[in-house]
Amino acid sequence: MNMLHTQNNQYRGNTAIQLAPLSPVNDPWDPIGSLSRYGGHRLTSVEMTVTNLCNMRCEHCAVGDTLVMAEPDKIPIGEMIRRLEEVEHLETISITGGEPTFSNRTVKEYMVPLLQYARSRGVRSQINSNVTLPYSRYEQLAPFLDVMHISFNYTSAEDFHQIGFAKAGHSVSLEAAAKLYDRMIDNAQRLSDAGVLVSAESMINYRTHDKIDEIHQLIVDMGCQRHEVHPMYPSSFAKDLPVITREQMRRSIELLLNSRDSNVWMLFGTLPFYQCSDNKQERDLLTRLANERNVTVRNDPDGRNRLNVNLFSGDVFVTDFSDVPSFGNIADSRLDELFDRWLKHPLAQGVNCHCPAASCCGPNLLVKDMYYKDVNFHMRSAILE
Ligand code: SF4
Repeated sequence: MNMLHTQNNQYRGNTAIQLAPLSPVNDPWDPIGSLSRYGGHRLTSVEMTVTNLCNMRCEHCAVGDTLVMAEPDKIPIGEMIRRLEEVEHLETISITGGEPTFSNRTVKEYMVPLLQYARSRGVRSQINSNVTLPYSRYEQLAPFLDVMHISFNYTSAEDFHQIGFAKAGHSVSLEAAAKLYDRMIDNAQRLSDAGVLVSAESMINYRTHDKIDEIHQLIVDMGCQRHEVHPMYPSSFAKDLPVITREQMRRSIELLLNSRDSNVWMLFGTLPFYQCSDNKQERDLLTRLANERNVTVRNDPDGRNRLNVNLFSGDVFVTDFSDVPSFGNIADSRLDELFDRWLKHPLAQGVNCHCPAASCCGPNLLVKDMYYKDVNFHMRSAILE
């Protein structure tokens, strides 16, 4: 498979240990793997928010409400690594923001050590970035990084200008935005060349649903090895944006499947469709997705195998953009303990169904709240024709 990832060596001392490449058959971020292996959900993934600073203000930003112009000191990096070291089944880490590389000091003092720690333990890593800053920021991370996750919802620099600075609060010229757009494309290509799996995420929303095929083609042209596709749900910052129907989402995914480059791994996530649905068209779409070459549908990691740690406060959340309040702090609790605490939470219990035959472990919290508020998923099971 041409999308296989090249950075697959873990080092113990001077000895290189070969890790299984990230691929459609090996996605350690999907909680279904650990659920099947251990017979119950385990904490295998930790996401860390390292900044609330960002050079952009995208209209769809999930954490837009938390973005700031200046921020306080973070907890010591040693404290965070000590808590990671205690996580018994750790398989992946993710670093997010804001734009995590906004400050070069954060890159050097937090991101590089976290990635080096992960690499030394054979833990896979991901950074969520807009990759619009100078390449020197990303060059320091590339040798230790597995996945660079970028957002890409555009068909041109004009789109990027409109979407990426929608909430800037001051005027940003098209010329300035176009320079960042070109740099993003150039950086993505250079990171791919350096052996990092560049995964571009598009949201299916009111702007993109009828041109998702064009967006896909640009992502392929940029040399990304993976196209990640998620419907957009109205999180707090983006709550005023027009919402599209499930039918429009379904049609958009079909448009994409009919036109995509099947050599590129396509990963769908947080879909509002389940095999227990009484809507046959939605079930048929899931069946098609399951049978397509190089297509995967990832179960939602948030709260299933992953927690989020805010590196300013040490507070632990189910995800970086949830309205669910923090349920603990790494200053006084181990992450595995906090995960067990979350699993007992009524919200977690409401979505923890599991149908092994459909490789499904339940709906995302936002999706349930939006489309299935009164549905008891524990009373349903997958319908497989
Ligand atoms: S695991 Fe839950 S959401 Fe998935 S098909 Fe089964 S009942 Fe439906």
